[in-house]
Amino acid sequence: MFSGYKYKIGMAWLIAIFVLPLPFLYTFSQGLPALYASQTSAFMYGVVAYVWMLFAIYIGTKPKWIDRLIGLPMAYMIHGILSLLAILLAFFHKEGSPSSGLIQLTGDYAFNLFLGLALYSLIFMAGWLTSRVRFLEAIKQTLEKIFKHELSVWIHRLNIIATLLVFIHVQLIDYVRENIAFMILFYAASLFVAISYAWNKLSDNAQGSQAQLVSNQEIAPNIRELVIQLPRKSGFKLKPGDYVFISFPQFQGMGEPHPFSLVNAPSGDGLLKLAIRGDGDFTRGLKDIPTKTEVVVDGGFGVYQSIIDDNQVKQLLIIGGGIGIVPLLSIIEGNPSIDTQLFYTVTKGTPFIYRDNITDWQKRPNFQAFCQEGRFKDEEILEALPKDLSQFLVLLGGPASMGRHWTKVLEKAGIAPSRIYYEEFSW
Ligand SMILES: Cc1cc2nc3c(=O)[nH]c(=O)nc-3n(C[C@H](O)[C@H](O)[C@H](O)COP(=O)(O)OP(=O)(O)OC[C@H]3O[C@@H](n4cnc5c(N)ncnc54)[C@H](O)[C@@H]3O)c2cc1C
Repeated sequence: MFSGYKYKIGMAWLIAIFVLPLPFLYTFSQGLPALYASQTSAFMYGVVAYVWMLFAIYIGTKPKWIDRLIGLPMAYMIHGILSLLAILLAFFHKEGSPSSGLIQLTGDYAFNLFLGLALYSLIFMAGWLTSRVRFLEAIKQTLEKIFKHELSVWIHRLNIIATLLVFIHVQLIDYVRENIAFMILFYAASLFVAISYAWNKLSDNAQGSQAQLVSNQEIAPNIRELVIQLPRKSGFKLKPGDYVFISFPQFQGMGEPHPFSLVNAPSGDGLLKLAIRGDGDFTRGLKDIPTKTEVVVDGGFGVYQSIIDDNQVKQLLIIGGGIGIVPLLSIIEGNPSIDTQLFYTVTKGTPFIYRDNITDWQKRPNFQAFCQEGRFKDEEILEALPKDLSQFLVLLGGPASMGRHWTKVLEKAGIAPSRIYYEEFSW
């Protein structure tokens, strides 16, 4: 049935919240001296907080298998919420289990650092939150003139120092150190995450493969098209609707990988076409990158095509707004046999991109497109819904307000949430 994606998300939450901490809690409680029985809960909070923090760091390494399962935007939401819950538990741990000396010092420094960074990250690094809370979005937009995204990424990395302090804190406690079963788990998990993190940051291929920028042109005001040639044996597994991370380490300020969706459906030629709106330093800096430059590419990421494949979709309703149309164009190109209706909207005065492609696809007997400046009325979209919804899927791409509006309208009209997929351009 059609429950695959939502089911996977539910399982991911369940595993992260309950299953991962279980072996740690079990081994810890088995080795806890009776003397400390009254503080058991407070200790347990600390154990769970550490496990969640490790998992949040692991998600931060963007594991491809997690992306293909639930998508990175959802994974980053889990990363953010788990980290916040971990800090809450760390607070209860701190309050319920007083300590002294170095144990207290490392614990307190770690907690204060986590707390400060969490408050910072809630504004600058939590797109899943700021896109939902207007006043946080407004604060972020004002302050981002000083605290650029790249600076925020570095500040966010101080969480690693805080986690290291907790790592030391645990080893300073005699009766925990003597609990061999727990310590084996503790070292194994910490080491696994440390290696994953170091691999992600330091290994030659961690940020991706060296590819070549073969074309870089403005295709509409403030929108550039980049065409990238992947190396012959890149080993990339790209699907329609995917996104890749790109960076130009040899250019100042362009070394941090940024995500962009594919315009084209990947074929065997290794050519990737991206359409990028100039929103900030990196995206505006692209105009100064000459062709034939080396570009580091990592991918593919994304779940659009997996959702289509897993559920043998026969009818697609696609609603795209502004630059959010990009991955949906790739989906349309790569799925010619699926009956598709496209509703493509742009704000007044801004251009439609790749209109020629859309005109071409209209020659297909099973493709219809409606392009409009300004919003579509609810009835216009609702009238397009098929009667038989058994192999039907709605794909949304665009600003958060648009995604949420159509999700609400369509769910109200009786479309099951599992038949609507919206991938945000922020996390
Ligand atoms: C899955 C996905 C697919 C995307 N596809 C496209 C696309 O096809 N075309 C397009 O124009 N834009 C796309 N974006 C948005 C694009 O990644 C951001 O606009 C770009 O990274 C902004 O960087 P900047 O330095 O120019 O702007 P900044 O001013 O630094 O950032 C603007 C906002 O973009 C976000 N952002 C910045 N850097 C990153 C980063 N390294 N990783 C994640 N988010 C970041 C932050 O929320 C930030 O507040 C996509 C985003 C995601 C998450």
